[in-house]
Amino acid sequence: MPIIDFHMHVYEKPWKGWVVEFLKSINPSVDYTKPIKPEHLLKDMDKAGIEYGVVFAETTPQVTGIVSNEFVSRFCSSSERLIPVASVNPNLSPDAAGELEYCVKELGMRALKLLPSYMYFYPNERRVYPLYETAARLKIPVIFHTGTSVFKRVRQRFADPLYLDDVAVDFPELTIIMAHSGRGLWYTTAEMLARIHENVYMEISGLPPKKLLEYFPNLEKLSEKVIFGSDWPGCRLDELVRDIKSLPLSEKAIERILGENAAEILGVKKSKK
Ligand SMILES: [Zn+2]
Repeated sequence: MPIIDFHMHVYEKPWKGWVVEFLKSINPSVDYTKPIKPEHLLKDMDKAGIEYGVVFAETTPQVTGIVSNEFVSRFCSSSERLIPVASVNPNLSPDAAGELEYCVKELGMRALKLLPSYMYFYPNERRVYPLYETAARLKIPVIFHTGTSVFKRVRQRFADPLYLDDVAVDFPELTIIMAHSGRGLWYTTAEMLARIHENVYMEISGLPPKKLLEYFPNLEKLSEKVIFGSDWPGCRLDELVRDIKSLPLSEKAIERILGENAAEILGVKKSKK
């Protein structure tokens, strides 16, 4: 079963200075002043034994900046191992649903990432429902940033995963992925949602592997609903994979978390290597 990293960032223009400082403190191996090339990402993936990387666009100019859908689509077109994910900001896009449709049909993007606390909306606001209707119709998953962030101008209240309960109820056919599993304040909420909703998954980027069983003592039982993500470049990828592999869980649970669940969601079946 391939290992799939469900949470990777690239950048088009250099990130804001304080974002770069933050990333440098975690992962100094990347030169953040130069454009990232697919080869760089693939090299880090190879070193960690990761077969597929899910790469996010980001339209959050109030907080981190903009990584355009066109850029991410182009970036990922160089390798079938890179899976592009669209970003649509419902507060900036005049036609959010239309933009998502364009990203999927014209740019070949295979999921939608939303950051409610960077974009400033509650996930259960009816005005964003056309986005979910479109995602459900196009059969693509929606990834929500959940949990606290240290970045400036983030509004934390929008990152409470509880608001996804309405979305899960109203769109039972939509696959919902909680990036960071409610990091910081809302682990129990995230776990509850993944347990009670067949269509809701937890993604564990940004959480130290050594703390996972402390945050989620039922991880073994939950493993069918848990997805690996790294938040690259804000991590040391090979160490991260190694640490997850060494968790005291069954081999099956580790396989599920590191790739099997993601492969089912993305429709990735066999090894391409
Ligand atoms: Zn991230």
